[in-house]
Formats: sequence, C-alpha cells, structure tokens
Amino acid sequence: MTKTVVVTGSTSGIGLGIARAFAADGANVVINGFGPAEEIQTTLRELDGLGEGTVLYHPADMTKPSEIEDLITTAEKTFGTIDVLVNNAGIQHVAKIEDFPPDKWDQLIAILLSSAFHTMRHTIPIMKRAGYGRIINVASAHALAASPFKSAYVAAKHGILGLTKTAALELAEFGITVNAICPGYVLTPLVERQIPDTARERGISEAEVKSEVMLRLQATKEFVSIEEVAATAIFLASDAARSITGTHISIDGGWTAQ
Ligand code: NAD
Repeated sequence: MTKTVVVTGSTSGIGLGIARAFAADGANVVINGFGPAEEIQTTLRELDGLGEGTVLYHPADMTKPSEIEDLITTAEKTFGTIDVLVNNAGIQHVAKIEDFPPDKWDQLIAILLSSAFHTMRHTIPIMKRAGYGRIINVASAHALAASPFKSAYVAAKHGILGLTKTAALELAEFGITVNAICPGYVLTPLVERQIPDTARERGISEAEVKSEVMLRLQATKEFVSIEEVAATAIFLASDAARSITGTHISIDGGWTAQ
C-alpha cells in the first residue's frame, strides 16, 4: 500500500533529501517550507517524477499552530491517512546568551521544538485510528552535546529528544514508533549561513570555522551527507525498525563518542 509521508521544512537541505527518498520509494509526500514559488514548483515536479506516489506542497509556517493544523488536516483529507511524520524544519542563530535576541529565542523554540508538538498532537489521532505510524524527529548531535553561542538551538534539540521519548512511551501499544535522528554537521544552507556569524563570535576565519569548529569533533573529518540522513529515515519507517522506539540514531562521524 502507498505510504503517506509529511516532511516539515522540506524545500531545502535534509528535509528535501528525506522527501526525495520517500518519493523515490513510492510514497505520497507532503512537502513544506519556504522558498521562491518557482523553485518550489520545480522541486514538486522533480519529486513527483520519482515514484508512483503523489507529491503535494503545503506552505504552513512552523511558528503558527493554526497553519500546522491545516498542514496535517490537508494531508489527511488528500491522502486518507498519514503513515510517517518527519519533523525536520529548522533554523539557527549564533550569538552569546546575553546578546541573543529574545524574539530569535522564541522563533527557534517554536520551529525546532513546539512545531513538533503541534504536528504530533494533530497526527497522533490519525495514526491511532490506523493502528500504525512512524514519527521521526530530525534532532542533532546538539541534542546530546552543547556548543557555545547556540543556546536556543541546543535547548530545543535537547527538548525534542525528551518529547521523542515521552511520545514513544505513550504510543508504543498503538503500533506507532517515535524516534530521533541526530546528525552531525551536514553542509546545507542552514550550516553555510552560520559560518560568518561563528567566525565573528570566535574571531577566526570562515575556513577555520569549517576545519576547527565544525569538523573538529567529527572524528571522520568529513561532513555527513544528506543522503545518509535520508537513508536512516527510510530505515526507521520500514518494518525492520518496528521495535525501535523512544531512541535516537546518531549519524555524526564519531562526534558524540567523545
Ligand atoms: P535548511 O536551511 O537547508 O532547511 C531548513 C528547512 O526548514 C527549509 O525547507 C526551510 O524553508 C524550512 N523552514 C525554516 N523555517 C520554517 C518555518 N517557520 N516554517 C516552515 N518551514 C521552515 O536546513 P537543514 O540543515 O537541512 O536543517 C534541517 C533540519 O536538520 C533542522 O531541524 C536542523 O536543525 C537539522 N540538522 C541540521 C544539521 C546540519 O548540519 N545541516 C545537523 C543536525 C541537524
């Protein structure tokens, strides 16, 4: 049977990679996120051509609970159910705590943490009715370890791991698994955009941000690829992962082994 998958923040980077992998696997996919209308149309056409399923775009802003509700109800109305929910949308802001703008703090917590609560509270009744579901939260190595100047991001990512475990316990007897993926650094627009700010905060060059900050703890000394993260999402949604719930899979080149 064709699976239906909702991926938040999937017009770019890791989310787009995950959407692409599920579309190629034959699923119906609801993509979401920001970007120029033309680029989104191109992405839709590309994904639609990959497999048997249908691909739909919904523009919900993950800081707006009513739009999140509309994303989930639209997915259900269009495809009849939601089999897989991937909470992925994210942004970053790099600054010292005392300089961190409070509205940025609120925005990061809303997008990285509260949006997953809202997608989940609307999706869980749908999955319970079906007696099946897979919820995959794209967390981060920063769900397990901190870095300076990323207070909101690290707090939200640690929080999403707590939400993952709580939901897993609540849903284990309903055929629904809930897990997190914790990637190390993946060279996406989100990472590219934080390089100048990190260079400024630390007083180093942009090249040194890559080699001395981002890849310093990544023991492989290589960025993780989008495809590696997407393959893990496909695995967590597969029957082989039926008994994996309430945990995380790190894909961080050895970062959190230290
Ligand atoms: P990205 O900037 O390439 O993509 C982010 C996506 O989220 C885009 O589609 C964007 O439009 C969307 N988005 C942003 N704000 C939104 C909002 N308010 N409402 C709806 N969509 C919104 O970033 P990425 O690196 O692919 O990050 C995706 C996820 O992976 C994030 O949760 C991020 O924290 C996590 N992550 C990234 C890395 C990395 O190194 N890139 C590492 C670990 C975890």
